[in-house]
Amino acid sequence: MDYEAVIGLETHVQLKTRSKMWCGCANAFGAPPNTHVCPVCLGLPGVLPVPNEEALRLTALTGLLLNCTLPARAKFDRKSYFYPDMPKNYQITQYDQPSTANGWVEFEFQGGTARVRITRAHLEEDVGKSTHFERHSGVDFNRAGVPLLEIVSEPDITSADMAYEYLNALKDILVYGGVSDCDMEKGMVRCDVNVSVRPVGTKELGAKIEIKNMNSFSGVRRALEYEIPRQIEVLKRGGKLVQSTRRWDDVAGITEEMRTKEDAHDYRYFPDPDLMPLEPTAEWLAEVRARVVELPLARKQRFMRDYQLPAGDAEVFKNDVPLGDYFERLAKQSKNPKAVANWVINNLRAKLTEATEKEAAETMMDSEPPLTPRLSSRGGEGALASLKFPPEFLLELVALVEAKTISSSAAQQVFAEMFDTGKAPSAIVQDRGLAQVSDTAAIEKFCDEAIAANPGPVADYRNGKAAALNFLKGQVMKLSKGKANPALAGDILERKLKA
Ligand code: ADP
Ligand code: MG
Ligand code: ZN
Repeated sequence: MDYEAVIGLETHVQLKTRSKMWCGCANAFGAPPNTHVCPVCLGLPGVLPVPNEEALRLTALTGLLLNCTLPARAKFDRKSYFYPDMPKNYQITQYDQPSTANGWVEFEFQGGTARVRITRAHLEEDVGKSTHFERHSGVDFNRAGVPLLEIVSEPDITSADMAYEYLNALKDILVYGGVSDCDMEKGMVRCDVNVSVRPVGTKELGAKIEIKNMNSFSGVRRALEYEIPRQIEVLKRGGKLVQSTRRWDDVAGITEEMRTKEDAHDYRYFPDPDLMPLEPTAEWLAEVRARVVELPLARKQRFMRDYQLPAGDAEVFKNDVPLGDYFERLAKQSKNPKAVANWVINNLRAKLTEATEKEAAETMMDSEPPLTPRLSSRGGEGALASLKFPPEFLLELVALVEAKTISSSAAQQVFAEMFDTGKAPSAIVQDRGLAQVSDTAAIEKFCDEAIAANPGPVADYRNGKAAALNFLKGQVMKLSKGKANPALAGDILERKLKA
């Protein structure tokens, strides 16, 4: 019998707000332990939570970006359990009336697009962080009360690779929308993986096994690559799977059982009496709607369609938004967007990366490495703004190549100088004498010289050895110091040889 995997993910994402969810403490990573705390996020008696409005907006915005509905009414509930990193002994979350539900995420997968339905995205708060030392443990409450969005998928995912692509697509959407920085290294995205297997062709779901608290997407993929065959193996050997929670051991590369359904928590959810239900007004929703951005996949598809770009180029512009915006501004004014894309990707991006790496190396040498990288993963926004040449110069360069005024190798020199000095391409061509010779009389003279100086290859060509033409053409280019228009030189040579 063949089995198939059924996977649903619960993804926790820290929202990009200045302050925490219920108090004015900073939502900031990396500070010394317990320096961003107050009576509210320490859960002291008698305090009252005040919702962070930006977190509410970002939650609604996420709902819109994930094609969800925004119910007229949502509320907050208390989820009761004890854990040392959660001082209130309950977590404020949304139980039966989440802020947003019933959407989907669409992404590229195996040469087509796949869709995973979103059950709900609800707002809750992060907990503190325990660190276990040799003889004692410490707890840091800086993270306690940081707004956390839990995005629950339907069990629509069917493989480890699909889970990986889904998570990346979700992350791209959230970063695009400014909802979260999704910095994995800072623990901004964590994920619970629910996975079961069932005989192919059956509808009923198998026992759900949850792998808790994964903090990398590649870890999720590896855990599933281990766990799916493990479950299938148990069933094939006639064993039975029970609903349970497992943990992933990244070093050993295995999952281990933590607890089964029998010791599941009873969270005793009830509406938080300190917080009013949420009933967003039409104006408030309009404000949020105005923040909706084009989704990454839509952007990639639009770049392919509107500018006839290959998927690889469009992918670059999807991943590097400032660079894509720069390209698009030029592409709109160009008859040859593909040529513009080539310059932007192969030359401009390469130069910017070079400059960034050099700067990073210098910084490392004369001081401590910076805590956070200077450029975000979305690339050189600042670098593009401080280019020495105006974007229009790139169009001028493309036009010079198209008109065959300069050869493509000369164009490389022009680009390098334009990048370094900000000088206009036409001025560089003139000053360096790079213009191609398209003057037929001049090229005829070079051809005559080449024919006269190379009787051997000329004879070869006339005896049917076509490749000899390339040699002669090379001689013409040499005589012209690389400036002859090569196509023209070829035509003239051929005509003369055949005469
Ligand atoms: P719980 O109430 O235990 O959190 P839910 O029914 O809310 O369980 O589902 C949690 C997550 O597990 C969702 O992402 C859902 O798609 C997924 N899920 C539910 N049942 C299964 C199953 N049998 N196999 C795989 N995933 C499942
Ligand atoms: Mg769960
Ligand atoms: Zn606080």
